[in-house]
Formats: sequence, C-alpha cells, structure tokens
Amino acid sequence: LLRKIFFFVQEVEQTYIMIKPDGVQRGLVGEIISRFEKKGFLLKGLKLFQCPKDLAQEHYKDLKERPFFPNLIDYITSGPVVCMAWEGDGVVASARKLIGATNPLQAEPGTIRGDLAVQTGRNVVHGSDSPDNGKREIGLWFKEGELAQWESVQTPWLIE
Ligand code: GDP
Ligand code: MG
Repeated sequence: LLRKIFFFVQEVEQTYIMIKPDGVQRGLVGEIISRFEKKGFLLKGLKLFQCPKDLAQEHYKDLKERPFFPNLIDYITSGPVVCMAWEGDGVVASARKLIGATNPLQAEPGTIRGDLAVQTGRNVVHGSDSPDNGKREIGLWFKEGELAQWESVQTPWLIE
C-alpha cells in the first residue's frame, strides 16, 4: 500500500525516444526498441508518425542558429519516425548511455549509435537530455490520451 501511495504522489521520470527516418528506412525499428525493452524500462507510448516541419523546428528550437539546422529539419521530416515515451527511475540519463555519443564514430561499441551508425547527420535515434526536456518533448510529440497507463508484470522482477 505504501508503495502504491508513493507511486501516486511521486512523478515518475520519462524520456522521449525517437527512431529517426534513417533508422526506420534501414529496418532498425525492432532492434532499437528491443534495447530499451530488454534494459527493463516501461514503454508508455509508441507510434509511427510523419513529422511536419513546424514540429521538427519546435523540437530542435535550441539548435536553430546552428549551420546544420536546415539539414537537420529536412532529415527529420524526410520520412516517418517512431515516437516513444519510456518511463523509469533514471531513464533519461540511462537512455542517453544506451544511445551513445552524438557522433556515431565516437559512440562506444555496444551503444545504439556505436553499433548502428557512422555519421552525426544520420545518427538513427534521439533521446531527451534532461527530465524537464523529456516532459517537454513527450508533450510535443504525443496528444492527450496517447500514452498508456499500465503496469508491467515484470516490474517486481526488475525493481525490489
Ligand atoms: P543529441 O542530443 O546527441 O542528439 O545531439 P544534439 O542535441 O547536439 O543535436 C541534435 C541532433 O542534431 C543530432 O542528433 C544530429 O542529428 C544533429 N546534429 C548535431 N550536430 C550536428 C552537426 O554538426 N552536423 C549535422 N549534420 N547534424 C548535427
Ligand atoms: Mg540533444
């Protein structure tokens, strides 16, 4: 009961993970999702989505002065992406580790970018860089009611 009350009061950390158009086109959707599944985080939202330009610009607004910004917007809107919300204590930083460095040539082997990509401009996946941005980005990419409220039967085998 205490755990239930605590669960109710506490805000659980969530991160926005997105498989970029190159990941979808290269048939890496299952591979990438399975890395987060196997790790033990909880999938709260999932959809295939063609991103409009204004949403891509809003998502990456902190980078709008950078020279690569127009290419980045073209890249993200060049085909469907897979939008995901993942939940769990420490999920934001852990997902960033699973994803690896922005430049795939510098990303460690064993990470998604380290194993599956070669160029910064085609680095297959996005992950929020802070819990606040996780909240902001999930709010941006998912509509009210698109996230599932559920508890996995695995939870007691993952969290003591
Ligand atoms: P991330 O948080 O690791 O995804 O990296 P950033 O937030 O710094 O950049 C967002 C995204 O912009 C990256 O994942 C790349 O897709 C793209 N990007 C960042 N830096 C560069 C660059 O120097 N060149 C190009 N072409 N794309 C970049
Ligand atoms: Mg970033």
